[in-house]
Amino acid sequence: MINNESESVSEPAVEFSTDDIQWMEYAMQLAAKGEALGEVPVGAVIVKDGVILGEGFNQPISSCDPTAHAEIIALRQAANQIKNYRLIDSTIYVTLEPCTMCVGALVHARIARLVFGTTEPKAGAVVSKAQLLTSDFFNHRVDYSRGLLAGQCQHQLSNFFAQRRAQKRKEKSSEN
Ligand SMILES: [Zn+2]
Repeated sequence: MINNESESVSEPAVEFSTDDIQWMEYAMQLAAKGEALGEVPVGAVIVKDGVILGEGFNQPISSCDPTAHAEIIALRQAANQIKNYRLIDSTIYVTLEPCTMCVGALVHARIARLVFGTTEPKAGAVVSKAQLLTSDFFNHRVDYSRGLLAGQCQHQLSNFFAQRRAQKRKEKSSEN
């Protein structure tokens, strides 16, 4: 068991298991697959009793699907795998704080626990821009923990954006 890597000292320390760490590392590997396709690197894996039910990476551009976030891909695969639209007693590990769409989908799927890596200050719907999971209008409660391998998940994303900016500068300078 280790303490979380959350940047905020005011947050209560959350303890994660070695399994948790392993699954988040796996989610980061999935994110890298998306990155190889030029997608923003976000990965998600759904686990129940130590078994993967579904996994996915962010791919809205390559799949021409605005809903193709890592979490949605993983939810669809998991539900199909167990032939049930409710994924009770399951945990989803995702490298980035989920958006409004994905938080809604996690509730619909009856996911028991959400573990995410880094926060998404611009559009995160769990702790950043909105705190949907603590709202009183959902009929299902998803427990969540934040900050697992946050530094590494954040680095994966910032690295991607830095490379993309450099690429754009290169393209611009070659146009002149
Ligand atoms: Zn999303």
